[in-house]
Amino acid sequence: AIPLVVAITTSIGAANGILVRDRLALEKMRLVDTVLFDKTGTLTEGRFGVVAIAVTGNLNEEEALALAAAVEGDSEHTIARAIRESAVARNLTLPTVNMFEAIPGRGAMAHSESGRLYVGGPRLLEMLQLRLPERLEPFELQASGKGHSVVHLLRSAHDGSHPEAVASFAMADVVRPESRAAVRKLHEMGVHVAMLTGDSAAVAKAVAEELGIDTYFAEVLPQNKDAKVNELQSQGKTVAMVGDGVNDAPALTRADVGIAIGSGTDVAVESAGIILVRSNPLDIVKIITLSRASYRKMI
Ligand code: ADP
Ligand code: MG
Repeated sequence: AIPLVVAITTSIGAANGILVRDRLALEKMRLVDTVLFDKTGTLTEGRFGVVAIAVTGNLNEEEALALAAAVEGDSEHTIARAIRESAVARNLTLPTVNMFEAIPGRGAMAHSESGRLYVGGPRLLEMLQLRLPERLEPFELQASGKGHSVVHLLRSAHDGSHPEAVASFAMADVVRPESRAAVRKLHEMGVHVAMLTGDSAAVAKAVAEELGIDTYFAEVLPQNKDAKVNELQSQGKTVAMVGDGVNDAPALTRADVGIAIGSGTDVAVESAGIILVRSNPLDIVKIITLSRASYRKMI
């Protein structure tokens, strides 16, 4: 039989937009000393807009945007969607591409009449061992310093040649209005707060500073997110991981408590013990309070 206190706690949670899939997760939450948040879609809304474009000179902004949107045509990434929406908003005609390929945690690739095209962030440049041309470097520095994610359009003139960056796009996301208060209250409760992202170190730093988060891990590949949870656990921490994406699922499973953002992907929701129905990071504070109040007397 389910103890009365558990039944009551679970329904208090439900009334507050907290859906408990695994009762043990709620019980363990009182022992959590570290909350590890995913950045994009969790601390931020994950809805990007293209706010600025820089080009090297061979293309104008609209041509660059049209090419990028074509490459991103089949990608489900939030950045890809934003690039497509921006192209639609400008009424651009997209060139035909084929042989689309997603490169998880890095970007996307496709072939066009004018050669091979890539769109992606810092990890894509690293994979291709590319440096940004001088005309794009200051743009990237300035945008990422403001917390804007930057992705680049790369092109190789014909299929054999090495690609070069020909344009950069600054993408602005919005920090959820409750994220800052959530971090502050967790600190007040004596809970350590950390952030995890596939985005660049400069963007991670800007967002972490804005939210008062002292520890962050940047440029983490999707398959390495759960290793970061493990790293904290091997330091003796009891970790709650909060995430929204497909790429967060292994980390949610690995954490002592996995918490999914309600507006997140199905895979994330299915990997979590608790779901924040209102997608509000402040509800983490409620879960800890509820868990501490309910289970203290049971041990
Ligand atoms: P996060 O952990 O922030 O949710 P991901 O691991 O999905 O992000 O992606 C990390 C980074 O890889 C993004 O910030 C972006 O630079 C790049 N990236 C991944 N997929 C794409 C794509 N389809 N188009 C452009 N950039 C991408
Ligand atoms: Mg995310």
